[in-house]
Amino acid sequence: MLHTAFLGLGAIGAPMARNLAARPDVATALWNRTGEKARAVAAQVPGADGRVRVATTPADAARGAELVLTCLPTSREVESLLDGNDGLLAGMARGSVLVDCTSGDPASSRRIAARLAERGIGFVDAPVSGGTIGAEQAKLTVMCGGDAATVERARAALSAFGSKIVHCGPIGAGHALKAVNNALLAIHVWTTGEGLATLERAGVRADVALDVINASSGRSNSSMNLFPERVLTRAFPRTFRLALLDKDLRIAADVAREQGVPSPVFQLTSELFRLARLALGDEADHVEAVKLIEQWAGVEIGGER
Ligand code: NDP
Repeated sequence: MLHTAFLGLGAIGAPMARNLAARPDVATALWNRTGEKARAVAAQVPGADGRVRVATTPADAARGAELVLTCLPTSREVESLLDGNDGLLAGMARGSVLVDCTSGDPASSRRIAARLAERGIGFVDAPVSGGTIGAEQAKLTVMCGGDAATVERARAALSAFGSKIVHCGPIGAGHALKAVNNALLAIHVWTTGEGLATLERAGVRADVALDVINASSGRSNSSMNLFPERVLTRAFPRTFRLALLDKDLRIAADVAREQGVPSPVFQLTSELFRLARLALGDEADHVEAVKLIEQWAGVEIGGER
């Protein structure tokens, strides 16, 4: 039996934890700041037979766990759970591993890893892509940073929700790759929005434009999936908060700057999504950034004529 803990049961953390807890060879302690979410996830795992428990504190969750998984908004929240009598460090044993599935930042991860190493505890940054549906279907891609042996140990838990688990490099490599991936997502959402708003103004309907773009070289996941399913339908489901994509863009822009790579598009896109977050609020979905473009252009993409 592999003993694990999972902390952070938000939009993506909850389905990841559910899949982990459902594994018959895994015992899981669940902790969430708002306790009823942990109780709800525990109740959703049928036939757990005492393998799943709800923990009262991070330390309580970590006690006895070989692998402790976190999925929080940013690295700041992960660091905030480490200290104090109730903190993770009070519960984690020498030889255990913290597997951080947060889309965090590389510098914080290296700092956290150094603190854990002083106590003989391993660290892997293991952010995910694939969205909430990928998490439900256990089809996430997991980007791991850390030494090879520790990543191998983490794999036992990550395979419960990840179908593609890639060792990307040293500690922080997973977080750097995730931030760049999401910067590309944001660029595609924004530029597809600008393109379709322009075409609407020029008299081309968005569905016609997407039909052509998706058979041509301008296509992307945004044009093929996000716009048809979320913008043209005006559904804008809330699956991945704009505030979190804003955070990812800032990480990508910071990493590029730290590495001395000229990155005008990352920097500009980061500013644009910050504006969108300020305009639309922290609970808006990332695709809703398009509403700002629509407002500026005075058109609704896919709207009635
Ligand atoms: P949510 O905002 O839905 O959930 C955040 C979670 O963090 C909640 O469990 C919340 O607890 C907890 N939390 C927030 N602040 C604190 C704190 N100070 N102390 C303890 N717990 C805290 O986020 P997501 O689940 O969407 O995202 C989690 C991570 O995964 C982020 O880094 C995100 O970028 C990444 N991600 C998300 C994807 C998605 O599609 N949603 C896709 C890929 C990556 P509470 O319930 O009490 O508020």
